[in-house]
Amino acid sequence: MTTSTSTKSQTPTAAHSLAHLNVLISGASVAGPALALWLARYGARVTVVEKAPALREGGFAVDFRGDAHRTVLRRMGIWDEVHRRQTHMGRQILVEADDTERVDLPAFLMSGDVEIFRGELSKILHERTRDRVEYVFGDSVASLTEDSEGVAVTFDHGAPRRFDLVVGADGLHSHTRRLAFGDESRYLRFLGYYVAGFDVPNHLGLDRTARIYSEPGRTLLLSNYGADPARAGVGLVFGSERLDYDRHDVKQQKKILADRFANLGWRHAAGALDGLESAGDLYFDAIAQIHVDRLSRGRVVLLGDAGYGATMGGIGTGTALVCAYVLAGELAAARGDHHVAFAAYEAEVRDYAKGCQKISGNAGPFLAPPTEKKIRSRDRMYRVLSSRFLAGFFKRLTEKAASDIALKDYARLDRQP
Ligand SMILES: Cc1cc2nc3c(=O)[nH]c(=O)nc-3n(C[C@H](O)[C@H](O)[C@H](O)COP(=O)(O)OP(=O)(O)OC[C@H]3O[C@@H](n4cnc5c(N)ncnc54)[C@H](O)[C@@H]3O)c2cc1C
Repeated sequence: MTTSTSTKSQTPTAAHSLAHLNVLISGASVAGPALALWLARYGARVTVVEKAPALREGGFAVDFRGDAHRTVLRRMGIWDEVHRRQTHMGRQILVEADDTERVDLPAFLMSGDVEIFRGELSKILHERTRDRVEYVFGDSVASLTEDSEGVAVTFDHGAPRRFDLVVGADGLHSHTRRLAFGDESRYLRFLGYYVAGFDVPNHLGLDRTARIYSEPGRTLLLSNYGADPARAGVGLVFGSERLDYDRHDVKQQKKILADRFANLGWRHAAGALDGLESAGDLYFDAIAQIHVDRLSRGRVVLLGDAGYGATMGGIGTGTALVCAYVLAGELAAARGDHHVAFAAYEAEVRDYAKGCQKISGNAGPFLAPPTEKKIRSRDRMYRVLSSRFLAGFFKRLTEKAASDIALKDYARLDRQP
């Protein structure tokens, strides 16, 4: 573990000013607004374009763990706010088909140091930046043409504009990556599983708890995090060959899920799945990883899931915040010289991001083991880890990848010889 210890909220000095820089960021979820926060602090002019008509609210809870996450949250000045809006999730319970409890997973095992809904985090970042950053919702980059002076950008709706740099923070299926680096099929590694999430009425009256039921190759998780007692979240994970479906056709995705989870044996499954048809906020994606050979091409650079994403289990949100801090810091340290800054960003984060991504590789088989025997052995492992002593050991293991970066203190760089 090699994290620097200074965790004060950072106010960059004048020597870091990026006032001459005009940056376009594509994507207003986590990575995009986090980078916007830092670049605005360094004085850059920042525009964030988001395809959705407004800030997207959905998503499961995401957690932060270890020193690097802690340091960056503090330096961003959002540590207290994240804690104020954390989930306070309690026990999660693995259940049998008749709903008897098989294994109890205590909160300290599952929720990192602090856990927050992805949508809440996105809101915090947006609230902290919207006065200093231009947000354009309901639009998308249509084309990027680079020359020696900058990048000419056209949009689906807005007028063409020029920027010095363009950042692709538009997720696993990044549109910026497609435009600047080529087709997604070259970079996306499918891991044999799909995941879905949606909200339903809280018909079991769950209160800050979750019930998890697995059959070979498929798992249903029903949870209530306390934010809204009337609603419960359904999470579905299933093993599958690669499916041919339209990512924008929600009806088709609901049909896939209904077929895959038909006749699930848990006695409360039908009640949970009844809400699928009317769910307005379905999240559905393959469990997959992104592997690019380089994170930048000319004046275009990738950040967050667009560059090194893993759909789940890879601490993607914490990684996005850490890497946004590094990218902005390197740009400031290089006084906006993108050749120097992008090379330094890549050198700083590449192994770190790969290490975090690596631990996501087993997320699918772990969440939805393919055989009854593997379900039982996963549950036995969970039972052992639930003891406080072993949980501490487990926690240190997962923190290792999240903390395995030597964070520079960019606010102090100009004072170093
Ligand atoms: C609605 C939603 C729900 C999610 N739910 C979960 C979850 O339950 N569990 C989990 O582990 N991870 C989830 N994620 C992913 C998680 O947020 C990321 O793994 C992590 O936080 C890194 O974030 P990111 O900003 O790099 O990418 P993302 O969070 O994927 O954000 C990408 C952003 O880019 C936007 N975008 C896409 N295409 C374009 C375009 N052409 N032009 C402009 N903007 C575009 C998207 O609308 C989105 O706001 C979710 C993401 C979203 C957007």
